[in-house]
Amino acid sequence: MMALLEVNNLYVSYDAIHALHGVSFHVERGEVVTLIGANGAGKSTTLRALSGLQPADSGSILYDGVDITHKPASDIVSMGIVQVPEGRRIFAPLTVRENLEMGAFTRKDKAEIEASMQHVFELFPRLKERLEQTGGTLSGGEQQMLAVGRALMAKPKLLLMDEPSMGLAPILVEEIFDIIQEINREGVTVLLVEQNAHMALSIARRGYVLETGAIELEGLAHELAENPRVREAYLGGG
Ligand code: ATP
Repeated sequence: MMALLEVNNLYVSYDAIHALHGVSFHVERGEVVTLIGANGAGKSTTLRALSGLQPADSGSILYDGVDITHKPASDIVSMGIVQVPEGRRIFAPLTVRENLEMGAFTRKDKAEIEASMQHVFELFPRLKERLEQTGGTLSGGEQQMLAVGRALMAKPKLLLMDEPSMGLAPILVEEIFDIIQEINREGVTVLLVEQNAHMALSIARRGYVLETGAIELEGLAHELAENPRVREAYLGGG
């Protein structure tokens, strides 16, 4: 069986800055895989390249056996790769309902879209209570939920999550990670980028450590969590 996602020797740069130099990793169907690494290691750049938002200089991205390296972002969403961007990036002037509807922009079947919306309400009852409130007036945690809900409206097969814990109180971090696990149990494969290595490794099956644009370590999540180098650099020592 081929992997759902296979990234081979990916190079990405911003003008003279080489953000990724030769990144390779894969994600199997049904897995939660995490990419951990410090600020500026290239985690967001990796997700942006997968989503078609940042062009690759070289290397390849295979999704379900199809080369998507140079496909436009809208095609990639239609194929089932959907990103929950860092910093939430919800549409602040639009209502919760409108934000969710925007997530379904690549879909046509009204009944299926409505079913997805009901499913989002089951996962996030708080969004249902705030349907007509504008996104910008939601709390940070609610905005994160809306960002995840909006991504689910696109019917992802592979969900790319960029730092879902950022800026959230610990209790909300727990809540969002529970939801990620729930979404995964429902059959969605998850690639999770995190600076919160402790939380990420606690829910992932496997992980990769990205340092200055290259993968330095990989392994089962519980092995990485025991690795002295990972503990020292990403888990606060001890
Ligand atoms: P963070 O967790 O801080 O977002 P990251 O691991 O996601 O970090 P990236 O945002 O992917 O890292 O950045 C990787 C490198 O690319 C960094 O050196 C960064 O300064 C650079 N970079 C990112 N975006 C741009 C840009 N738009 N223009 C120029 N350089 C950029």
